[in-house]
Amino acid sequence: MLTVIIGGGPAGLLAAQRLAEAGHRVRLFEAQATVGRKFLVAGHGGFNLSNAEELPGFASRYGAEENRFQALLRHFSPDDLRAWAADLGIETFVGTSGRIFPVAAHKPADLLRAWLQRLRELGVEINTRHRWLGFVGATGLRLRDENPGPDAGREFVVEPAATVLALGGASWAKTGSDGAWVPLLQEIGVAVVPFAPANCGAEVAWSAFFQQKVGRAPLKNIALRVNDGAAVRGEIMLTEYGVEGTPVYALTPQLRAALARGGPAVLHLSLKPDLPAPALTARLQLPRGKASFPDFLKKNLHLGPPVPTLLREARPDLPTQNPEELAALLTAMPLPVTGLRPLDEAISTAGGVAFSAVDEHLMLRQRPGTFVAGEMLDWEAPTGGYLLQGCFSTGAWVARAIGLPGAGTAGKE
Ligand SMILES: Cc1cc2nc3c(=O)[nH]c(=O)nc-3n(C[C@H](O)[C@H](O)[C@H](O)COP(=O)(O)OP(=O)(O)OC[C@H]3O[C@@H](n4cnc5c(N)ncnc54)[C@H](O)[C@@H]3O)c2cc1C
Repeated sequence: MLTVIIGGGPAGLLAAQRLAEAGHRVRLFEAQATVGRKFLVAGHGGFNLSNAEELPGFASRYGAEENRFQALLRHFSPDDLRAWAADLGIETFVGTSGRIFPVAAHKPADLLRAWLQRLRELGVEINTRHRWLGFVGATGLRLRDENPGPDAGREFVVEPAATVLALGGASWAKTGSDGAWVPLLQEIGVAVVPFAPANCGAEVAWSAFFQQKVGRAPLKNIALRVNDGAAVRGEIMLTEYGVEGTPVYALTPQLRAALARGGPAVLHLSLKPDLPAPALTARLQLPRGKASFPDFLKKNLHLGPPVPTLLREARPDLPTQNPEELAALLTAMPLPVTGLRPLDEAISTAGGVAFSAVDEHLMLRQRPGTFVAGEMLDWEAPTGGYLLQGCFSTGAWVARAIGLPGAGTAGKE
């Protein structure tokens, strides 16, 4: 039975592997010159494959889709992901934050190389520079060969028994995830939730003075919350446009919601999250002698540059002689967010194929035999390995569904 996979990201490649292992004939079509481009990009900033968080908590990271992900993660869990990597010769470890990484000796490209070798051994046919152009009839797929040479631009139709669409989200378009598939699905009546940036930086209208003086600067061991929501700990980076970093990314759903309601979307920054307010006030009450305010902050609270400049940016009439007011500012410095960074810069995409458009097997209701996996579905999750795990789990899920009796046998070959 022929199954066609469109899209050579982690979701499509894992579906291909699982299907080939189950004895399917698999042809994969990828628009770019190579597969796994975003997978390799993910490797640039610390290749975070999954997370060791236990299942109920892990699934809650997928927000509104928590229940669905309970089942998906049980089917292909973080442990399954580690076993899969080990089977390709890539050992992994759990970092102090719970994140799962390949051991240092293994680069992301090593994992991808070993994976592609395995796919070749399993007989998966990978066709790069082949773009899917849309559906034809009840089961056909229209494709264009974009390789240079005599066949350049040739269009053809394949009629698989089952199709997996794993076309990715709509950020980092240069990796191939450009969201250009949306009209192709809408044409056949599939509901697609508009894309929005997820896991991205937040814009703050810094003064020209602040931008020039601070530029980019890290703030370590801070806590951040949106309005009166729950705090997220970690490290952020002050940038020319605003703030970025894991806690900011984790708060993008709340920021997006607050901005959509017309604001206010205010990040509250705690620079001393481990120091209760009375202890903080007591430290600020210590005699200063001849020390300047920045020197005093540094000596008593270990808050060096850029904190004094940041305090004045947040409160130009900084009450340097009022310990209570200073403590309040250090505990919940308001940073009004004016917007989120553009979609193309985001680590991931919210929106995509609506879950109402697929059944429990992630098969399109409008088109039996066509399944959807990975980031192109309407889910979002924070960084920390939850994104790739979600792509792998959905890829494994659709591969299993195609093997089930009665599912995915709509085509002719
Ligand atoms: C900077 C950055 C860092 C990241 N770091 C991490 C991390 O550390 N941990 C983590 O869990 N996640 C991380 N991610 C997210 C992770 O890389 C993505 O969630 C994941 O790659 C999505 O997988 P996917 O298979 O759904 O889609 P993609 O990887 O986007 O693959 C989709 C593929 O479909 C192809 N395609 C699209 N349209 C067509 C068409 N019409 N015809 C043929 N092919 C087509 C594309 O070219 C692409 O290759 C990071 C992302 C970025 C941008």
